[in-house]
Amino acid sequence: MIAEEFKELLSSLRGLGHHQRNLAKATLNPQTDLPETLGVIEARFELNPACPHCAGIRLSRYGSASGLQRYSCKSCRKTFNALTGTPLARLRHKPK
Ligand SMILES: [Zn+2]
Repeated sequence: MIAEEFKELLSSLRGLGHHQRNLAKATLNPQTDLPETLGVIEARFELNPACPHCAGIRLSRYGSASGLQRYSCKSCRKTFNALTGTPLARLRHKPK
C-alpha cells in the first residue's frame, strides 16, 4: 500500500462508530479471546509467583474462582489470583 493511500485509510478510521472500531481492532489483533489472555497472564504469574499483598513466596493453591486459580499466602494468609493488584483485577468472565 502506498503512503498516500495509507494516510487516507487512517483518516477514514476516525469516522468509525464504536462497534466498527471494535471490529477493526479485532481484525488487526485477533488475540482478544479473554480466557486465552487470562491463561497467558496466569502462566506468567506461575513463573515467579508471589503474594501481591506482602510479596511472600510461600503460597498454596486455594481452589479457583472465575476460571482463575486462587492462591493463599502462608505469610499473611490472604487469598488472591494472578490478577490481584493489577488493573485487570475486576475482570469477570465465564470459564469455558
Ligand atoms: Zn501475603
